[in-house]
Amino acid sequence: MNDELDNLIQRWVRPEIRELSAYHVPESGDLIKLDAMENPYCWPAELVEEWLGVLREIPVNRYPDPAASGVVNVLRDALAIPESAAVLLGNGSDELIQMIAMAISGTDRVVLAPEPGFVMYRMIGLFTGMRYRGVALNPEDFSLDMPAMREAIEREQPAVLFLAYPNNPTGNLWSKKDIRELVKLAPGLVVIDEAYEPFAEATLMDWVGDHPNLCVMRTVSKMGLAGLRLGLLVGAPAWIEELDKVRLPYNINVLTQASAEFALKHRKVFDTQTARIREQRAVVTEALRKISSLRVYPSKANFLLVRAPDGRATELFEGLKREGILIKNLSASGGMLTDCLRVTIGTPEENLALFEALNKII
Ligand SMILES: *Cc1c(COP(=O)(O)O)cnc(C)c1O
Repeated sequence: MNDELDNLIQRWVRPEIRELSAYHVPESGDLIKLDAMENPYCWPAELVEEWLGVLREIPVNRYPDPAASGVVNVLRDALAIPESAAVLLGNGSDELIQMIAMAISGTDRVVLAPEPGFVMYRMIGLFTGMRYRGVALNPEDFSLDMPAMREAIEREQPAVLFLAYPNNPTGNLWSKKDIRELVKLAPGLVVIDEAYEPFAEATLMDWVGDHPNLCVMRTVSKMGLAGLRLGLLVGAPAWIEELDKVRLPYNINVLTQASAEFALKHRKVFDTQTARIREQRAVVTEALRKISSLRVYPSKANFLLVRAPDGRATELFEGLKREGILIKNLSASGGMLTDCLRVTIGTPEENLALFEALNKII
């Protein structure tokens, strides 16, 4: 029986999938969660009450509005989406990356992205049978290595280029001049992934319309609605119309539609929370920089990339865990991320707990 099962798996599951290990999300239990770029704040109690009132009215026996027009309308307003652009919604921006890949995939097609970068670009490229090419960033400041990017675009003629602005896990914004040059040079679609826009105080949303090959991707996850799973892609109507063909019907469920519409009408609450996170980002940066053995990179996102002393990243990660704090250990990714840790900005209390624990361990 077991041999038979093995043979079936060997024969039918694609070799590149068999080689993978599944995306691992660690158990967080009672730990202070500073590992996943979540907004640490809940909603005020009155808002929760009002929201429950909205949820009570939802007919869950019915399929959702397939166009999710209510959410699209509030998003257009809340995120200042250009009127001439179209909007595609995904079950998180991860699903949008998947839709883009499915619409353009082919074994001769290349997905290109700077590295270190967001892992889903590579993963989804692989899932959809495309070739993935990463181009190393400049190791000193994680800026784009423009000669290498130009060369890779020329050589690979990528069907899609992903540029996270700011980048995850390095936290920096790239020069607009460099991005503009790459958008002009790229033969295919360029997706500007603005997952961290609420913390960046920078956006390229107003470039949509100037370049036929440019789309901007956003998500409500990092601003404080990670549990809803809602991402959006903004681009020329002709692109969005094609990509929409691979979208599964009803991909945005009724609870997400109603909750996102409700939440975005109370956007001020999230603006206040994200402003507090930006303030705390400065506090945490300064406090960690006081620990002389750590190198803290500048960040325009809601996390900090920190380089631990030689070979000590895993020890610090484990030490923090024993002190009740979960962060992300990136050291095993190797390359430029050797010795690196990623810390999400928490509440003032959580951040204080982080400093105390770090000072105790180091
Ligand atoms: C977190 C993240 C996403 C994923 O967002 P979801 O909408 O939660 O799927 C996309 N891109 C980058 C760069 C991210 O860090």
